[in-house]
Amino acid sequence: MSMRKCLVIGAGLAGATAARLLADRGEKVHVIEKREHPGGNCYDEKTNAGVTVHKYGPHIFHTNMTDVWQFCQRFSRFNLYQHRVLSYVDGQLLPFPINRDTVCRLFGVEMGIRDVESFLADEVARSSYREPPENFKDAVISQVGTYLYDKFFHNYTRKQWSADPETLSAEIAGRIPIRSNRDDRYFTDLYQGLPEHGYTAMIESMLDHPSITIEFNTDYFLARSEFDKPGKYDLKVYTGELDKFFDEAYGRLEYRSVKFEFRTVDQEVFQPAAVVNYPNDYDFTRITEFKHMTMEKSKKTELCLEYPSAQGIPSYVVLNQENIGKRQAYLDHVNDLEEQGKALFVGRLAEYRYYNMDQVIASVMNKLK
Ligand code: FAD
Ligand code: UDP
Repeated sequence: MSMRKCLVIGAGLAGATAARLLADRGEKVHVIEKREHPGGNCYDEKTNAGVTVHKYGPHIFHTNMTDVWQFCQRFSRFNLYQHRVLSYVDGQLLPFPINRDTVCRLFGVEMGIRDVESFLADEVARSSYREPPENFKDAVISQVGTYLYDKFFHNYTRKQWSADPETLSAEIAGRIPIRSNRDDRYFTDLYQGLPEHGYTAMIESMLDHPSITIEFNTDYFLARSEFDKPGKYDLKVYTGELDKFFDEAYGRLEYRSVKFEFRTVDQEVFQPAAVVNYPNDYDFTRITEFKHMTMEKSKKTELCLEYPSAQGIPSYVVLNQENIGKRQAYLDHVNDLEEQGKALFVGRLAEYRYYNMDQVIASVMNKLK
């Protein structure tokens, strides 16, 4: 059987996973990437201070999917980091997601698990929301009530999305657990950590295969007619913005971006956790101090402040009713193309889903089954 010629558009995690899985099964793969580096939004690099920083925001790998974890293990070892986040509320740094200690410290009282459960149930009972929840605000209030929603969620969400939380999908709230125990980890997945030498190195290793070639600074849309020439490629794997591929035929989809401000600070430690959220203060949403998660030692420390923005590299899909409706129209079209076996749409932007890294890999694995 002759090898198929495949074009992969984008060298982020979706593109790299697809390229590798195709190459592993004997296909010939050419990857094009419009940035000057691989890794997409997972890209990281080491600074002069000897600390690896994530140039497009903090990335912590976590999954319950053993096949996804095993796939990653082929390309990198992982450290044992378990993510913890604090939220700056009422002048205190409190554990987030909300757990028993968050509630106790916020109110300055000692409570057991049962006390916290009944406190939350009372809070919910005296709050108003729609059941089943129709949006982000309903979904959070249905679990913690209005008081805690206002302290931890409302302003953060407005800052992050520049939108009324009632216009956002309840699905977003599903990312944040609420706990009555003292578990203060951000994720409880079976497998967690960061690639020992960074995401860039892991993704470079995925792309390192004799059947994979890669071209940087190359935008598919700037030479589309060349790449689309009949007979040039048998399969295209697209990982860019979904609407762009179809010239916005079903309307423009929104993406949210972030401006990252990096700071090197001449002290060993800046804050007590890798990430501190600032729901109610400042214009930025959170400060990341990378050395906590990379476990690197340095006399200096590297920080990243995140300012959400409508302009810039697309980082998030915006899950409101309008975009979800348009997504369906695009995905119907995608299904037709995929059924013909000529194209695959994978990843956060191309599927227009709020995917974590493991979900991106799982989706590629599933579509290439
Ligand atoms: P991308 O990373 O966006 O890659 C797409 C690539 O395609 C890009 O390199 C782009 O330049 C290229 N491209 C697009 N269009 C073209 C074109 N026309 N021609 C050529 N190339 C093109 N996930 C987690 O699991 N844990 C986390 O802690 C986490 N934290 C995050 C924090 C932030 C701030 C953000 C924004 C995301 C985070 N994520 C996290 C999600 C993670 O970044 C994504 O799931 C993953 O990077 C998506 O990979 P992708 O390949 O689908 O998309
Ligand atoms: N969120 C919030 N307060 C917080 C953290 C998160 O209200 O302190 C909300 C906010 O709407 C955010 C969403 O929960 O966009 C998902 O949070 P997550 O930490 O998963 O965001 P990401 O890491 O993807 O930016």
